[in-house]
Amino acid sequence: MSDLSSVTILVPGKLNPDTLDTLKKTFDVEHVLDRDVSKLSQERRNSVRGIAMMGAVPADMMDALPNLEIIANFGVGYDGVDVKHATSKGVMVTNTPDVLTDEVADTTLAILLMTVRELYAAEKHLREGRWESEGNYPLTPMTLRGRTAGIMGLGRIGLAIARRLEAFGLPIEYHNRSERTDVTYRYHPSLESLASSVDTLIIAAPGGAATERAVDAKVLKALGPDGVVVNIGRGTTIDEPALIEALENGTIRAAGLDVFENEPHVPARLIALQNTVLLPHVGSASRHTRGAMGDLVIRNLTNWFQGQTPVSPVAESVKAGILPRRN
Ligand code: NAP
Repeated sequence: MSDLSSVTILVPGKLNPDTLDTLKKTFDVEHVLDRDVSKLSQERRNSVRGIAMMGAVPADMMDALPNLEIIANFGVGYDGVDVKHATSKGVMVTNTPDVLTDEVADTTLAILLMTVRELYAAEKHLREGRWESEGNYPLTPMTLRGRTAGIMGLGRIGLAIARRLEAFGLPIEYHNRSERTDVTYRYHPSLESLASSVDTLIIAAPGGAATERAVDAKVLKALGPDGVVVNIGRGTTIDEPALIEALENGTIRAAGLDVFENEPHVPARLIALQNTVLLPHVGSASRHTRGAMGDLVIRNLTNWFQGQTPVSPVAESVKAGILPRRN
């Protein structure tokens, strides 16, 4: 590998520590923890050629870095990156697909089971000594038995969830913008149609404008009073106030959420509800999987700065034909 120690990579905000260490061994890293790049000297901003990040890269951050060539997103979902703006400037965007798929699918099944079988509350019952003092944890009104799962976003993660659900004996239906030709699961061209056909709605679609608040009051009503929602995709895909209403008044039965509209803020009304399982965005958060994601971020950057195509460019960058600059 050629010497890349003179190539400056900006890291705005927090990044996986193992990845940050490896990045520092390969590149000249400018770590701006509070994400305020305006603090950097003009000379330093001019030197930045790449960004490695989790979270957001808005247009003004790109505009502040005149020699930016590539944004390497740590995560498969890149709704935090203004890809349209990046594309208009000829800036490559990469993400980290596949390496996290199984971890996220495993987490989804755990959330689903926790939600329908109240496993967190049952565990708490034991730890608080109530098994001994009060007796058995009450029988759970919900079960996975007899449920039908509907997946919004049958992509890499959605399909890995579906395969696991098949092993649990659940029938599966799904909604994507387009029907897949490689599965036999029942397809619904609309989310409302999917919701009215199933009782367990699992969201594994990307965030962004196209899915914003797609799971709204109408969809929740269609899911019905035995309905369970599990969201492993993005918090913005659910109309959170409508979900809270639906959980409070019994329009649906329960929800298991790994993602929220305004992270890390979680509304107090959601926290107060007993029919929710709430996790702090831990879908891919094992050291193993975050390490694999970090390796892919670094491979994307090293490929690019050696004049090669990155391993995992996002579809918009491929479509725009953005190529490494040979300088
Ligand atoms: P993927 O392979 O691109 O799958 C996304 C799926 O969503 C595709 O099947 C796509 O099908 C469908 N989709 C896209 N836009 C849609 C829309 N507007 N309405 C309905 N369906 C739509 O991506 P992936 O690797 O499975 O990742 C999916 C998402 O999971 C990521 O974008 C990320 O937001 C989330 N995620 C969360 C965590 C976590 O920690 N909680 C971790 C990793 C990923 P069509 O193109 O046919 O619509």
